[in-house]
Amino acid sequence: MRKKTALIHGGTGVDQATGAVTPPIYQTSTYKQEKIGKLKGYEYSRTANPTRTSIETLIADLEGGVRGFAFGSGMAAIHAVFQLLSSGDHIVMTDDVYGGTYRLMKRVLPKFGIEVTFVDTTDLKATEEAIQPNTKMLYLETPTNPLLKVTDIEAVSHLAKSYELTVVVDNTFSTPYFQQPLALGADIVLHSATKYVGGHSDVVAGLVVVKDENLGEDLHFIQNSTGGILGPQDSFLLVRGLRTLGIRMDAIEETAHALVDFLKTQDSVTKIFYPGLADHPGHATQAKQATGFGGMISFDVGSAENAERLVEATRYFTLAESLGAVESLISVPARMTHASIPAERRAELGITDGLVRISVGLEDVEDLKEDLEQAFSLLTKFSEKNV
Ligand SMILES: *Cc1c(COP(=O)(O)O)cnc(C)c1O
Repeated sequence: MRKKTALIHGGTGVDQATGAVTPPIYQTSTYKQEKIGKLKGYEYSRTANPTRTSIETLIADLEGGVRGFAFGSGMAAIHAVFQLLSSGDHIVMTDDVYGGTYRLMKRVLPKFGIEVTFVDTTDLKATEEAIQPNTKMLYLETPTNPLLKVTDIEAVSHLAKSYELTVVVDNTFSTPYFQQPLALGADIVLHSATKYVGGHSDVVAGLVVVKDENLGEDLHFIQNSTGGILGPQDSFLLVRGLRTLGIRMDAIEETAHALVDFLKTQDSVTKIFYPGLADHPGHATQAKQATGFGGMISFDVGSAENAERLVEATRYFTLAESLGAVESLISVPARMTHASIPAERRAELGITDGLVRISVGLEDVEDLKEDLEQAFSLLTKFSEKNV
């Protein structure tokens, strides 16, 4: 089955009980037992629910893993994965991870004796040097947010194997349509399904897929014991979202390239971050390990004032956090998604005050270009006024 077909025919398929072609929403907490302990595979919905099984099976198929898990948010999924560790363990992690992941590492996990070292995982030597005797996990995000740095998953996984580390990849930005980290050597892949998987800005959810049964049993034990599960309605929405992931990503990719070409013509843009650009440092790696460059573009407009003016002037690019939906979104990472990261640390990472991030949606590309054009024209006037 090729990818676009797997999005539609993968997973549990037609409902066995009724023949329904879309997964029924099993809005039930418990299941009748014919006799004590005689069940039809379901006992209590924290442990398992058939609608949740639909999305968990589908994402496992799409990522090429053995078992999938759906959680109430991306952060709940990420936290569940860290619960595979014990007090005293150490994680090596990509330095510019999602702000919420950074906060979890800095403010929650230390209370439980789990330590982290942040490192530029695009640098294999630096990554190896960050490994300690108590390191158990190597956690990658690629491409990153908002600078779209690309880590070579295969090379890092190869390194991790020699130290017996579990490799985890946050695959939110590339989606299983473009990139399958398990095939590149990772052990666990996870998503904020709130983004491209759901795809319509109408659900908050997280997904995890593991490469083998042992990890599957461990993670199911954690999911059932800690209880951060996704409900049946939201599970249904994720299956529905995934059906169109292929055509959405193809269209988003095409528009992203057109918008990058447009941004290149703008005088006020001092720098563009997009892995699809031949001069982006991660271009070759992304081209090797993924089948697309994605729909996230960041660019620098030189100052906080310019960034604010631009994002408040667009009509079709909605000023909002989040990404990966049908509507195009625009944001200023330093003041929105990455505001919880101290200014000093943002400066170290290169997240400047003039950095603007867009998530390309499915609108007509000409409207999106015109929208940016009118916003950029205000920007020029604004900066002239301030000369
Ligand atoms: C949004 C996001 C998360 C967190 O997911 P939530 O669904 O918001 O909890 C994690 N990683 C990345 C890359 C994200 O973009």
